Amino acid sequence: MRYYSTNSKDQFLNFGEAVEEGLAPDNGLYFPESIPKLSQEFIDNLHNYSKEEIGIEVIRNFIKDDISEEEIKRIVRETLDFDFPLKEVSKDIFSLELFHGPTMAFKDVGARFMSRSLRAVAKKDSIVLVATSGDTGSAVANGFYKIPGIQVVLLYPSGKISKIQEMQLTTLGENITAIEVDGVFDDCQSIVKQAFLDDELNKKLSLTSANSINVARWLPQSLYYFLAVAEARRQGFDEVVFSVPSGNFGNITAGMIGARMGLPVKHFIAATNMNKVVPDYLNTGIYNPSPSVPTISNAMDVGAPSNFVRLSELYGGSHEKISEDLSGYFLTDLETKKVMKDCYKSHNYILDPHGAIAYDALLNSGLTNDKTCGIFLETAHPAKFKDIVDEALDIDLPLPEKLKEIVGKEKVSIKMDNNYGAFKAFLSKNYK
Ligand SMILES: *Cc1c(COP(=O)(O)O)cnc(C)c1O
Repeated sequence: MRYYSTNSKDQFLNFGEAVEEGLAPDNGLYFPESIPKLSQEFIDNLHNYSKEEIGIEVIRNFIKDDISEEEIKRIVRETLDFDFPLKEVSKDIFSLELFHGPTMAFKDVGARFMSRSLRAVAKKDSIVLVATSGDTGSAVANGFYKIPGIQVVLLYPSGKISKIQEMQLTTLGENITAIEVDGVFDDCQSIVKQAFLDDELNKKLSLTSANSINVARWLPQSLYYFLAVAEARRQGFDEVVFSVPSGNFGNITAGMIGARMGLPVKHFIAATNMNKVVPDYLNTGIYNPSPSVPTISNAMDVGAPSNFVRLSELYGGSHEKISEDLSGYFLTDLETKKVMKDCYKSHNYILDPHGAIAYDALLNSGLTNDKTCGIFLETAHPAKFKDIVDEALDIDLPLPEKLKEIVGKEKVSIKMDNNYGAFKAFLSKNYK
């Protein structure tokens, strides 16, 4: 499989090169040259395969030119090394719980896959740079922890992320370095971007990114859509509708790639908060990125979704064709809290603020019935948003063991001024 940049469709890279580069030099996103169709036999028998067998079959075609069959098996096994339960919440509506991984958010899947595939393809030692406002940083820190030949440098805005998130970034040590920037998230992002564009630095160091711009973090997210359809069949459903909490639109676009590979999906719904650039586009045909506004579902506070270009690429830019497969849905914070409360009262299920919007989208879709199962992706454990959940439901949600363990550990971070020069000096001095 070859990959091209969405900005220059006549130049191709192999998987390894695309992973090592992250963002294309022309600012485009790498995209597979073709979407391979899976065999009908495989699709018809999904429910008879193990999660590893499904994972290998789905991802193989994208990486097999660069990674051996043995290694693909190992990478998939380690990536999917936790549960992906499908739990009924209300009639014909199910939660695909993607929060049973080490940092309790779906980003664990992409981060674990990327760290292992980067290690398999990298020609030299790599440095992964990540600006984070929360979940991405913890998933990447954990996914890359102790992976040989890879150093991770995380930048986060001092005092602007939750205590638990900060502990997840700053207590690992080893090959993970956390930098606490005296600024906001956008400052961290801007420092990282300057580093990627700095020729002098890139001559010396092999830098790459680990957000969903990177193909190796983006594509493996298609795996759990297959696992969900397999499980829905085991529970007696013929068809599924997926509703996906969306910010940068990497997750849902990966699911739509799965559908293009042959996964039977009746419809997709993109659920957002008031950062509703894509729902607006689906309704009007006009794509109008705008500055983000803060909400209680903050992992979706994105005003210019980076993966929109991939979504558009998948449909040759046709608004009409995209709209056949995808609808948008959005809620205000007030509405989101009401959904969380109603669901808890009526069904005793605790939604996190992201999953809540996707759940409500299915309730109001009119698409589900006893043959068609509605599946929303629960993208994070509700305890990661404990303050909001406690307030909305009037409870005191206990912290799961995995999060409790971290709280007592020692925080180690490097404080830094909001200044690219300081960051460049730090990289030059500490890495070679
Ligand atoms: C990252 C994140 C999202 C958004 O995912 P995208 O792939 O950026 O659309 C949704 N929910 C949670 C909890 C997240 O951490």
